[in-house]
Amino acid sequence: MYGILTADADLAREGLGDRTYYFAERVSGTRRDPVPGVVNSVACWGDTEAVRESPDRAAVAGDGTPAAPDVEGHHWGTVCPTDPDYRAALLDRIADVGAVGDVRLTTPGFPGEDFCRCDRCERLFGESDFDERVEWRSTVITEFVADAADRADGDVIATLYPDPYPGHLQERAGLDPAALAEHVDGFLVPLCGTGYETTYWVESLARGFASAVGDLDASLSFQLSTSGTEAERLAGLARQIREFGDGVVFGIHRTDADLIRDVFAELNGPESSVVA
Ligand SMILES: [Zn+2]
Repeated sequence: MYGILTADADLAREGLGDRTYYFAERVSGTRRDPVPGVVNSVACWGDTEAVRESPDRAAVAGDGTPAAPDVEGHHWGTVCPTDPDYRAALLDRIADVGAVGDVRLTTPGFPGEDFCRCDRCERLFGESDFDERVEWRSTVITEFVADAADRADGDVIATLYPDPYPGHLQERAGLDPAALAEHVDGFLVPLCGTGYETTYWVESLARGFASAVGDLDASLSFQLSTSGTEAERLAGLARQIREFGDGVVFGIHRTDADLIRDVFAELNGPESSVVA
């Protein structure tokens, strides 16, 4: 499967490739109508606008540092995943988006290893049956994803941070792929770079994910960026990693429409089918 991912609604309607992903709700807090029949992404807790409006909603680290866009290591604001009102509203939005197409959950999870230590999270962890905070965090996220999958009519795809080393996703974000695979239909892993002058890291990470989650009952796709990279190199990179998953999705802008047509032509051409 070769697909596209775009923030351009018109481009999303063009049906380029086998599957289309559209950015409906972004970490900036921007929300747009979902495009019917495609995979519409919804940012979970990544919401700069919400954190700007209500700074006390941000997830906080053990030293009190909030997950805000002006804090080093955070490119956007992140609401605490146990905020009950935000969680309820997010699930309602996922239900709305999931009524017209498939749903991709972006930024699911806690915004870092040391998050969240807000008073509510401290209380909830203390009241829980868990001795290990990392286990409690994973349960918080898995239960949310399960609820999200119940609300969505179509497929639900979860984004995984590109770190396949065993245990790292759980330590970083509270993402337990084996537990999540019982609820989602697939995983999408961003492996984005500008120009891809080197590609060994893309191949290594894709191979690592194949080992880490390839046996689970969920599809595995990889997301590549296209900006600054010629079609031949992109097609070569896709050929290099396709054996490790079920699909490759290319992030594109309106100006990349011809480029991606060339990439697909190269990937689906007669020469390619002989190789495949
Ligand atoms: Zn919290």
